[in-house]
Amino acid sequence: MAFARRDGELHAEQVPLSAIAREVGTPCYVYSRAALTARFRAWRDAPAAQPKLICYAVKANSNLAVLDLLARLGAGFDIVSGGELQRVLAAGGAASRVVFSGVGKTPQEMAEALAAGIRCFNVESAAELEVLEEVAAERRRPAPVALRVNPDVDPATHPYIATGLRAHKFGIELEGAFDLYRRAAASPHLRVVGLACHIGSQITDLAPFLAALDRLLDLHDRLVAAGIPLRHLDLGGGLGVRYRDETPPEPGDYVRAVSQRVGARPVELLFEPGRSVVAGAGVFLTRVLYLKRTAERNFAIVDGAMNDLLRPALYDAWMAVEAVSDAPREADRYDVVGPVCESGDFLARDRLLALAPGDLLAVRDAGAYGFSMSSNYNSRGRAAEVLVDGDRYHLVRRRETFADLVRGETRLPE
Ligand SMILES: *Cc1c(COP(=O)(O)O)cnc(C)c1O
Repeated sequence: MAFARRDGELHAEQVPLSAIAREVGTPCYVYSRAALTARFRAWRDAPAAQPKLICYAVKANSNLAVLDLLARLGAGFDIVSGGELQRVLAAGGAASRVVFSGVGKTPQEMAEALAAGIRCFNVESAAELEVLEEVAAERRRPAPVALRVNPDVDPATHPYIATGLRAHKFGIELEGAFDLYRRAAASPHLRVVGLACHIGSQITDLAPFLAALDRLLDLHDRLVAAGIPLRHLDLGGGLGVRYRDETPPEPGDYVRAVSQRVGARPVELLFEPGRSVVAGAGVFLTRVLYLKRTAERNFAIVDGAMNDLLRPALYDAWMAVEAVSDAPREADRYDVVGPVCESGDFLARDRLLALAPGDLLAVRDAGAYGFSMSSNYNSRGRAAEVLVDGDRYHLVRRRETFADLVRGETRLPE
């Protein structure tokens, strides 16, 4: 257990969280190197009959130290912007292991990714394919492509993080994909290398993944029969984690089920996990500023807010919150809220906690879509990030200052 209570206090590996809060300040994110490593290895070392590549989804947590660690462990990367490509390269990741997803790639981003030599563009529309073809023609460098299809399966997750239904903006409708593959295969500027999908996030059951896979395999087989072989099948990300009482499959179970269904087809398997690699490897540390009692509710007002950790406000996500240190106090029910001027600014609601002003709280499973979704709303500098390694820790992003906040801004001329 990377985050465990010892001597009445929550630790990250060997380091008491109160020590980090004292030295780095709050709010801050704390990641565990051991937990990141273990979670990535669960994917990387999952046995499969086919070769496979785990392309970590950078948007879940794009800190350079996290990317560096994963690159050293042999990760590929799934990116959704030119900025993420630059992060991967800056962290020592190999472009040859990068797949580029997203519905709105600009010609500029395509050109940069092509020049870097990425592994594959996951193309999400006919119009995008045309632009990519033009970019590749101009650069005289064929672009490796997979079509990201929309398999029209319901992942049974929060509507904002479901992506594989016909009504969503993502992917290419299955019916049209075959013809688009033919067009791509006929172009001298495009190299068809794969087939991709991504049906959503925080999926806690194998059934939707396997339903999507069946549709992919059906299309794969028709393409092969038409003389369009594929080097890889990319199942996307989306494997859920336990925030409360969910019981998601382990990566190994998922990989085994996929591998069995793919059978003897000579393809490499790609997976794009984000959340399941990093969520449990991080906590968000925040300090109680004030306790406020009203006729209706009790509020614990803390120094971390929705700009630091958006998931509760955005998806009504439930994240475990606990006091970092045991204290002999009476517990009460609290809404844990931040200083931002929005009633949606809460980290947790109606939680039983024993609190006093000055206490430290840890929000668990905050390694994914925590810092990476943070903003400067209310002119709040973004939180510090710390990576713990055994009995040491590294500040891997310093807290933002006022100078950071206004960088690039100017007043009016005289
Ligand atoms: C967000 C995303 C992922 C990662 O999803 P997780 O739920 O974090 O595993 C993978 N692939 C694509 C295309 C994505 O948009």
